[in-house]
Amino acid sequence: MEDVMKKIKIYSIAMGSIAQELGIDAGDFLLKINNEEIGDVFDYRFLTADENIIVEIEKANGEIIEYEIEKDEYEDLGLEFENDLIEDARTCSNNCIFCFIDQLPKNMRQSLYFKDDDSRLSFLTGNYVTLTNITDEQLKKIIKYKLSPINISVHAVNPKIRVKMLRNKNAADIVEKIQRLTDAGIEVNCQIVLCHGINDRQELDNTIGTLGNLYPKVKSVSIVPVGLTEHRNTLYPLEKFNNELASEVIKQVKNWQHLFLETKGSRISYLADEFYILANMDIPAYEEYEDFPQIENGVGLIAAFEREVEDFLEDVDEGYFNNFSDTISIATGVSAYETIYTVTSELENKCAGLKIKVYPVINKFFGDLVTVTGLITGQDIIKQLKDKPLGSRLLICRSMLRANTEVFLDDYTVDDIEKSLNIKVQIVENIGEDFVKKALNKNGDGRC
Ligand code: SF4
Repeated sequence: MEDVMKKIKIYSIAMGSIAQELGIDAGDFLLKINNEEIGDVFDYRFLTADENIIVEIEKANGEIIEYEIEKDEYEDLGLEFENDLIEDARTCSNNCIFCFIDQLPKNMRQSLYFKDDDSRLSFLTGNYVTLTNITDEQLKKIIKYKLSPINISVHAVNPKIRVKMLRNKNAADIVEKIQRLTDAGIEVNCQIVLCHGINDRQELDNTIGTLGNLYPKVKSVSIVPVGLTEHRNTLYPLEKFNNELASEVIKQVKNWQHLFLETKGSRISYLADEFYILANMDIPAYEEYEDFPQIENGVGLIAAFEREVEDFLEDVDEGYFNNFSDTISIATGVSAYETIYTVTSELENKCAGLKIKVYPVINKFFGDLVTVTGLITGQDIIKQLKDKPLGSRLLICRSMLRANTEVFLDDYTVDDIEKSLNIKVQIVENIGEDFVKKALNKNGDGRC
């Protein structure tokens, strides 16, 4: 049977781009580049990188035109596609015993139940992938196109344990796959979702030790506690890390950090902030996170936030806090309450006219075992802050909202909160400087 050529519909054309200059239009189809078909976004990027390329386009009327293009190396053509990956994201082939998506309440927006596991998304947006659904050809493509770094959910290097956790027989060979990538020069960040009684203790030692030995190509290993909602009655029984278990993990990882620092010059392994909160222990010093390789994963967020506030307060000039008077409130997750309370107290000391009320919002939507700020929903904020004194503005954290939107996970919007609580809401980026500025309602940076 004859192969059908893949035609990629062009969704839009960037203003002032090469494509616009050539008269390529939205609705045209991209057929080939340098006589090669384009499978996905990485083929596209790779093939368009050269200075001289031939692009084959099918116009909406069926006419096929070949454009010979001379441009700068890596200069973008300005073709935009409906799907950033060009083809659909690969779905996950696992059935992990700890999967957070399986623990979501029913009747949420359908897209939230989508389980992706696509190495291209790891490169493009930092998603963690398990590599259980990757073909040999796709692995070769990562190597050929030098897609680095790749973020990998390892969980355990012991094949039996990993197969048990991911409930997928293809999960066994993760060390070989990582080795293949690192041997080819691909940098890798690894994640371990720690489940008590499954991959902790000896298994954790085994996993950290094995991955640490692949440093520096395995750049970092984060350990995050399993997240448990109250919607998991029929799912695999898992236990939340309590104070004692969290303290044990901290001690264990500290030993690895010392050893790695001495023998390899980096701590390599880092714990999510949540472990220190669970253990009621101080967050490590800022320097102990080195270059914060996994901050997006909740590793070192508190240390970075506190340092940013401190630096900003040191940098601003004396008059920054003068003539300011306001009473405001902040909604935060239970686990970040202590940090936010401490930082706001410092701010109040600096600025006599500022009064801040910090409200920890209990997560009724997912269950009160979920304490992180990023999973607070709009309805919990409304229910719990109704009738509370809020002052003139309510500050919330950007991490509560879906990327590039003002919509919470439960589909409530910032606008819903403003209307229900009759308050102006300000969104604070996860950066200390922005926090101080929003608290003081300032736009300029006020530095000396
Ligand atoms: S890899 Fe596991 S945790 Fe991630 S979406 Fe798939 S089943 Fe869920």
